[in-house]
Amino acid sequence: MEMRLYDTLTKEKRLFTPLDPNNVRMYVCGPTVYDFAHIGNARPVIIFDVLFRLLRHTYGADHVTYVRNITDVDDKINDRAARDFPGLPLNEAIRKVTELTEKQFHADVDALGCLRPTVEPRATEHIAEMRALIEKLVQGGFAYVAEDHVLFSPQAMNAANSILPRYGALANRTLDEMIAGARVDVAPYKRDATDFVLWKPSKPGEPSWPSPAGIKAEGRPGWHIECSAMAWKHLGERFDIHGGGIDLVFPHHENELAQTCCAFHSDRMANIWMHNGFLQVESEKMSKSLGNFVTIRELLADWPGEVLRLNMLKTHYRSPIDWTLKGVEESAKTLDDWYWVAADLGGERPSDAVIEALSDDLNTPLMIAALHGLRNSAASGNDRDRGQFAASLRLLGFLSETSAEWKGRKQQASGVDANQVDNLISARAAARARKDFGESDRIRDELAAMGVVIKDSKEGTTWEIAR
Ligand code: AMP
Ligand code: ZN
Repeated sequence: MEMRLYDTLTKEKRLFTPLDPNNVRMYVCGPTVYDFAHIGNARPVIIFDVLFRLLRHTYGADHVTYVRNITDVDDKINDRAARDFPGLPLNEAIRKVTELTEKQFHADVDALGCLRPTVEPRATEHIAEMRALIEKLVQGGFAYVAEDHVLFSPQAMNAANSILPRYGALANRTLDEMIAGARVDVAPYKRDATDFVLWKPSKPGEPSWPSPAGIKAEGRPGWHIECSAMAWKHLGERFDIHGGGIDLVFPHHENELAQTCCAFHSDRMANIWMHNGFLQVESEKMSKSLGNFVTIRELLADWPGEVLRLNMLKTHYRSPIDWTLKGVEESAKTLDDWYWVAADLGGERPSDAVIEALSDDLNTPLMIAALHGLRNSAASGNDRDRGQFAASLRLLGFLSETSAEWKGRKQQASGVDANQVDNLISARAAARARKDFGESDRIRDELAAMGVVIKDSKEGTTWEIAR
C-alpha cells in the first residue's frame, strides 16, 4: 500500500519511497534524561511508535531500523546532579541522575504500549563520531575555532555555491531574519550572530573529553552535533525519516541538517522531516509555574497506559492537542468496550481501512473511525471483522492484556469485591426468577452504588466497574 507523509522541509505530503526497502531508517530525537517525562514528551514517543509499527507492517519487521537517542550530556543534567546529590563528585552524581531517569523513562513508555526502538544510542558513547564530524566541518570551511570553542557558520554554508540546502530552509526563515532576531549580547567569540556551538570548553568538574580541531583544553559537545553523530553512526549519511516535536525544528533540526549536509557535501540528511504538534492541558500551556505539569508517571497511577495511548491518537499528530480529563474518561470507556468485544479474539490480518488511514500521513482520527465501524460489525457477529478488529488493535499496541486482566485491574483500583458482586448478581437472578422485581431493582441499585454496571444478555449477566 502506498504511504504518504508530510515533509516539513518541502511543506507537502509526499509519496514515501524508502532509500532501501530492506532497511527503512528512522531517527527520532529522544529525551534529555534529567527528570520525569511529562505527557507532552509522550506525544512524539507514541506517534513515532505508531509509525514504526506501520513501517514494520508494510516493509517487514526485520526491515526497519528505528533509532531514538538518549541525551546524557547537557547543562540541565549537570544542574540537576549538583542539586540532588551535592555530596558526590559531579561525574558520579550525573551518572546517578541519568541512570535513574532513563529507567523511569523506559518504564513509562513501555506502559504506554511503545515498542523499544532498534537502537537507543547515548550521546556520551558517540564522542569520537562527534569529533570526526567537527573535524570535517572545520576542514570544509564551515566551522572555525575561537577561544577553545568550535563554531558552525551558517553564513559560510549559504555562501558555498554547491548542492547544499539553504540554511533556514527547514524553519522557513532567512539568515537576515535570524540576524534580526538574534539576542543583543552575542558571545564575543562568535564571528556572526547566527553561528552556533559545535564544541565548548568544560568547566572544572564537568564531564569533559579530548577536544577536536587542535584545541588543547578538554571540552564537551553542543547539543545539535550529538544527533548528527548518532544518526550517522547508526543510519548512515542519509536516511529516510527524521522526527521530533515541532519545537525542535529551529534551531535543533535546522542545525543537525546543516552539520550533516556540510560534513558529507550532501543535499539531504533525511528524505522526510516529520514533526508532531504541541500538547496543552485543559486548554493551557503546560508549565511548572502554572501547576498543570503532568508527568506520565502520575497519569499511569490513575489510568492504564493503553487509555493514555488511545487518547493521544484521537488527534492528528500535526494538530495541537488539548489533553483533558474528559477526553481521557471517554478514551477509557471506548477501550473498556473494545476489550469487552475483542480482547479474547484471535486474528492475523489487520483491516485495510486501518492501514489505509495510517498510510495517509498517520491519519489516526480516521483510523479510529474505522475501528469503531469494525467494532460494530464485530459485535454483531461478523467473523472476518472480529478477527480484523482484534488484529488491528494489536498491531497498534492495544489489547496487551486479556479481558480478565483488564477487568481485574479496574476491580483492584475500585476496591470492589468480585465475590460479593457475583453473590448479588445471583440473588438478583433469583429475585427475577420469582418475579420479585422490587428486590431485583434494589440489588441493581446497590450494585450501581458500588460502581458496578451490569449488562443482561441471552448468555447471562456480565458486569464491569463504571469509571
Ligand atoms: P525535551 O525533553 O524537552 O527535549 O523534549 C523531548 C521531546 O518531547 C521532543 O521531541 C519535544 O519536541 C517533545 N515535547 C516536549 N514538550 C512537548 C509538548 N508540550 N507537546 C508535544 N511534544 C513535546
Ligand atoms: Zn536531535
